[in-house]
This record gives sequence, C-alpha cells and structure tokens, in this order.
Amino acid sequence: MTSFFITTAIDYANGDPHLGHAFEKVGADCIARYRRLRGDDVWFLMGMDEHGQKVAQAAAADGVTPQALVDRVAGRFESTWDRLSVSRDQFIRTTSPAHQAGVQELIAQIFERNPDDFYERTYSGLYCVGCEAFKQPSEIVDGKCELHPTLTLEMVSERNWFFRLSRYQDFLRRLIEANPDFIRPESRRNEIIGLLDQGLEDVSASRARLGWGVPFPRPTSDGQQQTTYVWFDALPNYWTATRLPGARASWPAQLHVVGKDITRFHCVIWPAMLEAAGLPLPGGVWAHGFVQLGGERFSKSAGVRLDLDEAIDRFGPDAFRYYLLREIPWDGDGNFSWERFEERYISELADGLGNLASRSLAMILKYREGVVPRTASGTPLDARGAELVTAYAAAMDALDLRRGAEVMGELVSAANLFIVQNAPWALAKSGNEQQLDLVLGALARCLARLAVLYSPFMPGKSAELWSLLGADSGVQSVAWETATAPAVDGWVVKKPDGLFPKPQNVPGAPK
Ligand SMILES: [Zn+2]
Repeated sequence: MTSFFITTAIDYANGDPHLGHAFEKVGADCIARYRRLRGDDVWFLMGMDEHGQKVAQAAAADGVTPQALVDRVAGRFESTWDRLSVSRDQFIRTTSPAHQAGVQELIAQIFERNPDDFYERTYSGLYCVGCEAFKQPSEIVDGKCELHPTLTLEMVSERNWFFRLSRYQDFLRRLIEANPDFIRPESRRNEIIGLLDQGLEDVSASRARLGWGVPFPRPTSDGQQQTTYVWFDALPNYWTATRLPGARASWPAQLHVVGKDITRFHCVIWPAMLEAAGLPLPGGVWAHGFVQLGGERFSKSAGVRLDLDEAIDRFGPDAFRYYLLREIPWDGDGNFSWERFEERYISELADGLGNLASRSLAMILKYREGVVPRTASGTPLDARGAELVTAYAAAMDALDLRRGAEVMGELVSAANLFIVQNAPWALAKSGNEQQLDLVLGALARCLARLAVLYSPFMPGKSAELWSLLGADSGVQSVAWETATAPAVDGWVVKKPDGLFPKPQNVPGAPK
C-alpha cells in the first residue's frame, strides 16, 4: 500500500475562517479522498499557526490571553471543517508543547550539524505585520506591502539570529531542476526559479521583541533570550506532527498544499531548513491561487468579506464544495459569484445529476419493482463511462480537480442523452423487456460510477446516492474497481426524494 501524507497550510489564528481557507481545505480534502479511493494509505494533516505578533495584538484588543484567543479560534476553524466534511486525520496546533519541543530540537539539530548556518546580525528594514516579514523594495508598492495595502510598514531595527539561506541557493536550484514536480503548478515553479536567479538573502530566524512564540534555543551573544521567528516555528509543524502521540504518518510528506502567497517559504526556506538539519525533503508543493470576490482577494487584512456560513447554507455543504472546485481552477485564481453558484447548482446538480438519479431510480422502481436487472455491460453508456473514468483518473492524478469534476458532468450529460435516445417508457409500452433491462442496468451502473467518482467532491450527497442505489456499505470504503467495473445487478433501489432540491424548495435560502 502506498503512503500518501498530505498537508495544508496551518491557518493563522487571528480571525475567522473565510472563503480562501475553505477553498484550500476542500481542495486538499478532495485530493485526500481521491487517494483513499485509489487505495493509498492516506494521512491528512491540518492545523493552526498560533504564535506571532498579530495573535498577541488581537488577544490584547479582546482583553484575553493569547492562549484563550487561539483556543477559541481553533474551535471555530475545526467546526467549519466539520461542517464541510474535511476528512483530516490530525489537527496540529503550534502552541502544543510537543510541537514547541520539536521546533527547538530541529533548530538545535541545525546548530549541531552546520554550526555557522545561524549567525547574529543587526538588521534594519521595513517590516509588514501582515506578512510577519521584512519586505524587499521589489515587494513594496506605493510605500505599502503589495499583499497588505491597508497596513502601514514599520521601520524595525533589531539584533537577531539569522539563517544562512544564501548557502542553499545551489542546492535548491539542483533540487528544482532535478524534480520538475517539486513545485507545481508551472507558474509557481517559474516564480521560484526567478527568485533563485535574483540571489537569496539570509533570513531572520529569531525576533528580539515579541514574547508570544517558541523560545529560540540559543541566546544571542549579549545574553538576550529571543523568540523563534514565526516561519521557523510554523513550517516545522509538518515534521513535528509525525512525532506527536497518535500520528500514523512518517516523514517526509508526499504533498504540501499551500496558497501561492507562501510558495517561497515552502519551496525555499523549508527545504533549506530540512537539508540543514539532515532531514528528508517532502515530495512536492502545490501552490493554489486565490478566490476573489469581484476581483479582490479574500482575506482579513484586505477587508473583503463574504459570510462563509451563508455560502455553505445556501445549497448545503456538498453543493458549496462542488461549486468551489468546479468553478475555481486549482492552479490559478478564480471568482466567487452568487449568480454562478446558483447557475451551476441548478443546471449541473438539480437538473443534471439530481434529475438523472431521480428519473433512473424511478424507472427501476416502476418497471422492475426496484430490482436492478442482471445484464451485460455492453451499452454505449457503459463504454462512455469507462472512457470517462480514465479521463477522470488522469485529471485527478495531475491534481486538475476542476477537470475531474467536469468529466463527471460529461457522464451525467451522456446518461441523460442515453435516456432520451432509448426512451425506456416506450420500450415498456411496446413490451421490449430485454432492451428495457439493458437500458435500466446501464443507468444503474452509471449512477454507481457517479456516486463513487463524485465522492471526493461531494462526500455527503455521494453517500446518499450510493445508499439510494441499494448499497449495503458506505461509499467511502469502496475500492477503485467499483468505478471501473460497477457491479450493481440485483441491488434493490430506494425511492429518491430529491438529492438537490431547486432553490425555491431550499428552506431559508437567501434570495
Ligand atoms: Zn504584507
């Protein structure tokens, strides 16, 4: 069995989960569920990044301790992931003592192996509290951080431990050149190659002035106890998680899923840290784009908001997951719009998959008392289904989630057309029982395929459809062969009562 250890970015604990977080987690969950369906031994890690200045500031503004704030925020994030059926195996929090000990151990290991990878330096520069980073001139637009135009950059001067990142420039170039898949998609890989072409600067590894974090394991030469810089605290979570009680994953991870804004931390600093500590490197990094609303990025600091609960409530969690993954490319930016959401819901789910399921099941009930007839799988719909399963697997293996969902839509259209062309009601009327059996059997196999292959996208509705078909086990535990060669002969289907009700029938839908 192949191990597949997948991670998402850990989220910064200074606000509520928003659409950008949801897109990343739902996408990673879709990949994790697909790998389980392919028979991999999957470990899916998520978590919270709970240290840093912004957390301390937000707690102070709230009049609570930083720990009380992050406990509350972690609870809100986890309940959102529960609502969205995000099937994480582990949820790490960087305030956990085991993680903090791991961070210190990793840094100590670098000191031991490469004693001058860390050195002391006084640094002055423009610091963005949004990024928790000093900004280079190329990242500053009109005197503001390009990612946080609403925040004011601060001139900061302090004596810190620095990590000699510049030493790893050639190592990183060789790594990226030898492993075309180490950074995907291509656009992000080119961005990092461009960064290496400019030459790497050493990076700060500790902070003099903030207390809410992991103590840096070595004081500076003037005897100051420092705090580990937030990225040296956050990035190691992927490794410390494997050492926590109950973790079944072993390092290295096969895939880190992150947003494109933190690609360079994951593709430059993280592999350099691991190399310095003598630890194995992850299989690769996938950097997705941003979900925008009217062209603007969702984030707390950019001030662009959309109520995540309202979006989930609109047509239910599965429709929301489906819409995000079907609408927004996994390798670039995309837009969220209520109009597109409703359009896709009606045409692809209510009138598409939902209608296909209800008319097919209704005909099996009406003409065959609910029993799926025993037939050979030689119809054109079976052939098209087999073809599309192959196309789906190719898309999902390449992490083209949008194409994966699109392929299933093609199968729904093919099945609806198959019904029109074969007119089962006419076959029943003329007494052509054998042909009617063939048509109904093909439709049942097609629905089985759809239930299985949509399950990474819509786990709840897929389970519902699977059960309507008469399955006696959960769709989450089926083998891949159920999609390539569905065997549903003799199953007893149930009466459908609307998988995807039309908007006017959705209780409490905002109009
Ligand atoms: Zn910034």
